Amino acid sequence: MPPLKVYIQVSLVALAGLLLGAFLLWRLAKAIRTRRARAIAGNLAAVTAFAATTFGLCYALIPCFNWPLASYCRGDAAKKWVALTFDDGPNEPYTSQILDILAQKHVPAAFFTVGASVSRSPEVVARMLREGHMVGNHTQTHRGLIALKPEEIREELAGWERAVAPIGASAPKLFRAPHGWKSPFLGKILAETGYRLVGWTRGVWDTDRPGEEVLFHRLTARPENGMILLLHDGVEGTPGADRGDLIAVLPKVIDHYRALGFRFVGLPEMMQGTVK
Ligand SMILES: [Zn+2]
Repeated sequence: MPPLKVYIQVSLVALAGLLLGAFLLWRLAKAIRTRRARAIAGNLAAVTAFAATTFGLCYALIPCFNWPLASYCRGDAAKKWVALTFDDGPNEPYTSQILDILAQKHVPAAFFTVGASVSRSPEVVARMLREGHMVGNHTQTHRGLIALKPEEIREELAGWERAVAPIGASAPKLFRAPHGWKSPFLGKILAETGYRLVGWTRGVWDTDRPGEEVLFHRLTARPENGMILLLHDGVEGTPGADRGDLIAVLPKVIDHYRALGFRFVGLPEMMQGTVK
């Protein structure tokens, strides 16, 4: 997940885009009113190009923009349950500390691991599987998929599979795209390789390391049924990236949700029998 400031910048660009779209529509409406064929055709082409570009950007950059490629972003909202997901690890010693907390609290989780990091700490991934957590594919090197060729995307998925093969993988086969960014080729490749795409309901920019108090607030501010929480035991596969803030607040966050009556469930359990 990119830093919060990137989201703010993207939001400002989106606002500028909305204004541009409104301006183009206004020009088209004006041309239609004056019944000038060339002006209508020119403005119609501009509006069409703008709409196509906007659609392409939404598809590529918004993790749960679910057409034409659906991703699983939320569990059944009729049930008071939450799923924890941790991306970008394993990242020692932090991933083991998170596993200790999950074991103490009897909480299942999903870990979307980076293949290069798996090769550095295979014993930690073996522990995840042994303790009933799900291990998903988050690519071999955590490169953004948008600009990659199809064969490079296939290699990112296959590289992760080679890294995990000696340890054993989880079923079902789940994939989460780095940053949630999607390539136009991703749907076809996931269908060929048997992966289901997973997004998230709530990201809290925990890799920005905002401090324990802010992080606790972000994680508990708006509890919702069926939430998939995006957290990070690593940071884009960087060895030893500090996750101390998250480890400090995680037990309190788990206790907080339980006090509100939420149940922590594994992602595969949440996905069974639900579509979105
Ligand atoms: Zn990631």
